[in-house]
Amino acid sequence: MKRVRGNAAAFCEPGTKGRRVVNILRVNLTKRTAFFEDVKPEYISLGGRGLTSTMISEEVDPACEPLGDKNKLIFAPGTMAGTVFPNNGRLSVGAKSPLTGAIKESNMGGTAGQTLAKMGIKALIVEGVAEAFVYLKITADRVDFLPANGLQERGNYETIGILREKHGEDVSILSIGQAGEKRMLASAIAGTTPDFFPRMAGRGGLGTVMGSKKLKAIVLDGAGGDGVEVADPEGLKAAAKALAKGIMGHPLVPAFKGLGTAFLVNMINELGALPTRNFSRGRLENAAKISGEHMAELLAKRPNAQASHRCMPGCLLSCSNVYTNAAGKVVTSGLEYETLGLVGANCMIDDLDIIAEIDHLCDDYGVDTIDVGDALAVAMEAGRLPWGDGKTALRWVREIGAGGENGALIGNGCRFTGESLGVKRVPVVKGQSIPSYDPRVLKGTGVTYASSTMGADHTCGNALPSPANPDYDPGASTGQGPVSQFLQAFFAAIDSLGMCLFASLPMLDMPDLQKDLIAAVSAKTGEELGDGFLMALGTRVMSVERRFNEAAGFTEADDRLPDFFYEEKLDTNGSVFDVPQEEIDAIYR
Ligand code: SF4
Repeated sequence: MKRVRGNAAAFCEPGTKGRRVVNILRVNLTKRTAFFEDVKPEYISLGGRGLTSTMISEEVDPACEPLGDKNKLIFAPGTMAGTVFPNNGRLSVGAKSPLTGAIKESNMGGTAGQTLAKMGIKALIVEGVAEAFVYLKITADRVDFLPANGLQERGNYETIGILREKHGEDVSILSIGQAGEKRMLASAIAGTTPDFFPRMAGRGGLGTVMGSKKLKAIVLDGAGGDGVEVADPEGLKAAAKALAKGIMGHPLVPAFKGLGTAFLVNMINELGALPTRNFSRGRLENAAKISGEHMAELLAKRPNAQASHRCMPGCLLSCSNVYTNAAGKVVTSGLEYETLGLVGANCMIDDLDIIAEIDHLCDDYGVDTIDVGDALAVAMEAGRLPWGDGKTALRWVREIGAGGENGALIGNGCRFTGESLGVKRVPVVKGQSIPSYDPRVLKGTGVTYASSTMGADHTCGNALPSPANPDYDPGASTGQGPVSQFLQAFFAAIDSLGMCLFASLPMLDMPDLQKDLIAAVSAKTGEELGDGFLMALGTRVMSVERRFNEAAGFTEADDRLPDFFYEEKLDTNGSVFDVPQEEIDAIYR
């Protein structure tokens, strides 16, 4: 362990100059200290979610108060970050979640993951609570604790602008907006893209944890970092090339590249699984108005808009976008399917410009659009604002940043809103709101919502139909447990490698590509890895998380969807969620 401490700054010695050294950086905000620690042997093969969840389970008391000084916030780039491997470099953020009370990992695109990896920082652990709001400036051999004067009560856009101006164009910035400062439970952490738009680690209230530590932002300056060590550079290049070729051959790629994730609006609406009117219907009549196709037409006519945009270097799919208004002023980047589904269809709002404005405010204040979208729909069900009234919804969202009773409701998420307003139909599991896929149609996804260690989370295992897998019936009542279990392990591994989930989807339909992925990891780490590597890694991560949750008091009784999904038939397929509970419970037995 190497340590030098100071008041305004802490100086760290990452290793001998000229020798690549990978360390864990531990920052304590109470003591204003920063240490570089050697990586424990058992952590060497872990990255991303695998590392954050393992460290949280070893270092954080499962019974601790999530917003108290015993909780820790851990940032870890995926194993492959900073290499030529395609679509990788996502940054995992882990903590005990104040939204669910369970373990949490949420990951984001942007450049911070790759910057940390190139600085030789395998994980950044943030402990303690600062006396007053600070931000950290981290370079390859130094950590500065800087006062957040002038940044407080500012949104992510302004915060990023100020820090970019001060620290230059070659930094990555992680920050929270007003919601995190106010400790609202649906708060997110933003990280910058190469062109300094915010991307969010949105789920689980991790921005709230950052706010509770009085940490406004982290500026990562990778200049002087030693870069990433690769055991077999030629082997990695060959595997990455083969994988990239395979990914680009998948039939979904043109849709991702052309329309972004918004292509899912029409697809999920066709399936009858688009949450509408607080999950009481499965199709929105005017879905075409919020579809990817309509958005692409609109953006083609608008100055400065980009229908296709990369959130990080090395991305092959460019599923993001830059949404501008008719005058060419940037409104948001990017406008994605979950926001269209939950702020849009689930609230019966079919005006793209209003949804884009709400998305901008959510990114700026730093809140999760999934939890806020579902919270708005619940408030509409309670009669607090009319269905489809986008302008009033926009006013409510504005109150998250500006202050106000309505903003305090929805900024604390869907469960808080439902409980406060006495609503019976509240779409949450373990306190986290349900994403934009109705589990009565997509029953494998429903099993994931019910059983995931993260609460309702489609990224943990979304069982979508695929033309390449015609035998899978997403509406069948049985057989969904094993499908979800496989997907949950697969995506836990993908999250640990730091790969973008969208680029990993082709590997499900073309399993041979998994061999290229495993060969690439092997070339990076120098380890001999067999065909079972992904499942073994994912299963290990899930078990660590499950044990943490059990110690925090969760039981199988928490692995259930809200009652109304079992009781109310959906109009589109006439079905309730009827997967036997034994199939769900078998996942962790
Ligand atoms: S596919 Fe989309 S989310 Fe994934 S890396 Fe590219 S732009 Fe980011």
